[in-house]
Amino acid sequence: MTLRRLGLFGGTFDPPHFGHVAALRAAARTHRFNRIEVTVAGDPYLKRGRDSVRPAAVRLAMAEAAFDGLDLVVVSDREIRRAGPSYTIDTVRELLREADEVDLIIGADLASQLDRWHEASELATMVRVGVVPRPGGAPAIPVGWVSYEIAMEPVDLSSTYIRDTHPDHENLREFVPEGVIPLYEGFRG
Ligand code: ATP
Ligand code: MG
Repeated sequence: MTLRRLGLFGGTFDPPHFGHVAALRAAARTHRFNRIEVTVAGDPYLKRGRDSVRPAAVRLAMAEAAFDGLDLVVVSDREIRRAGPSYTIDTVRELLREADEVDLIIGADLASQLDRWHEASELATMVRVGVVPRPGGAPAIPVGWVSYEIAMEPVDLSSTYIRDTHPDHENLREFVPEGVIPLYEGFRG
């Protein structure tokens, strides 16, 4: 069976949190998608320079725990299996072999960065972009991208905040799904 419409939600997920869960739920509610694929970046090249990103296998396990059971959602290791930097356009090319259409699902913070992505002008011709709100203002979509907004109550949470505030076990429960906690605590670094 070929897939008609696929949503692609990529990220570093260090760790996955309730903001990601809310975004995936909101995307599923649009009824635009037959499937939503979450890709865990093997080498998140735009985050090089940050102290230490947890190993891909740990981020994958955390994403599987976090997003397990969400409507339409499958977690994929395809960007981890692929060598080299995780370029979205390579993932889109792979997915277009199975799907008629691929939409990127991104948080509003990434909208203004789209033109910095690898082979951005080519990518812009291949996908539409569904933008999920994030606190901090309206998304600024660069010229040339076809986009739409996905309705959601903004969730004020980021992986950076969780990493920087070192929440204890109890506080972590406010930020990440239960199944993520032992995996995250096992790799505090
Ligand atoms: P970091 O702080 O390390 O950048 P993050 O919380 O932004 O982490 P990422 O793994 O970078 O998480 O993001 C994956 C995707 O999820 C991106 O499209 C990002 O915009 C989106 N996203 C992350 N947090 C939220 C949130 N609170 N609400 C909506 N979208 C979010
Ligand atoms: Mg981010």
